[in-house]
Amino acid sequence: MLICHVCAAPLTEADRAMRCPNGHSFDLAASGYCNLLTGSRSGKYIGDDRDMVAARRRFLESGAYALLRDALCRLLLSLTEGRDGLSLLDAGCGEGYYTRAAAAALRDAGRLKQAVGTDISKAATRYAAGRDRSVRYVTANSYRLPVADGAADLILSLFAPAPAEEFLRVLSPRGLVIRAVPGADHLWELKQAVYDEPYRNREDKHRLAGFDERDRVRVEYPFALDSPGAIRDLFSMTPYAKRTPREGLDRLERLERLDVTFSFLLLVCGPSALDS
Ligand SMILES: [Zn+2]
Repeated sequence: MLICHVCAAPLTEADRAMRCPNGHSFDLAASGYCNLLTGSRSGKYIGDDRDMVAARRRFLESGAYALLRDALCRLLLSLTEGRDGLSLLDAGCGEGYYTRAAAAALRDAGRLKQAVGTDISKAATRYAAGRDRSVRYVTANSYRLPVADGAADLILSLFAPAPAEEFLRVLSPRGLVIRAVPGADHLWELKQAVYDEPYRNREDKHRLAGFDERDRVRVEYPFALDSPGAIRDLFSMTPYAKRTPREGLDRLERLERLDVTFSFLLLVCGPSALDS
């Protein structure tokens, strides 16, 4: 499934490295982590840094998004009924919270051949690899995936950029993309606490060019953030963290508890039928 970042030839694993036939080689850490970004950019900070990864990890491990994770697994199983030998790609996998669960669900059902998680953040992929040896986690750019043409049967794109053209390239003929996007009311109470004039999320902006939406599942439930730390961790995961004025942050920091709505859409997308 994985190809060389430099020349796009297939990669094989040997001697603690991923190598292509043209002599390009990428170190494989003991954990199985591999950085497929090369050159000057590879050493530079890109993607989520270690603090953000740690905050998200604490939040996810609190079980706050467990219902979404479980709904995703159920959806994957219903979509793959009667199939086997599947290749799963989680593009923008973060620290692998959903990747681990999705791969395990498909593996337990006897339907998984291989699973790959990619993320632009080294800190995130390195952590993911340490948690789960059964999935290959690599640092890579979703807009230039180190994945062979047509090699992925299922692509997960969960709260992550979804480059339609690149997804079409790597998707197998019967393949599906499963996306998670925020529902209209997601984090409404948090936005009310922080903003004078909060707005609801637009649900109609998530079209993927070249794809048709085949199905959608709404997952919505209330959740109590019962400590300032939990509120802070969630907030740091949101896009609002970087663009909220000081007054809003002050209001947030004074909260001891916040009852918040989690609302998500799981979108199942398949390549549009070709015009005849
Ligand atoms: Zn190469």
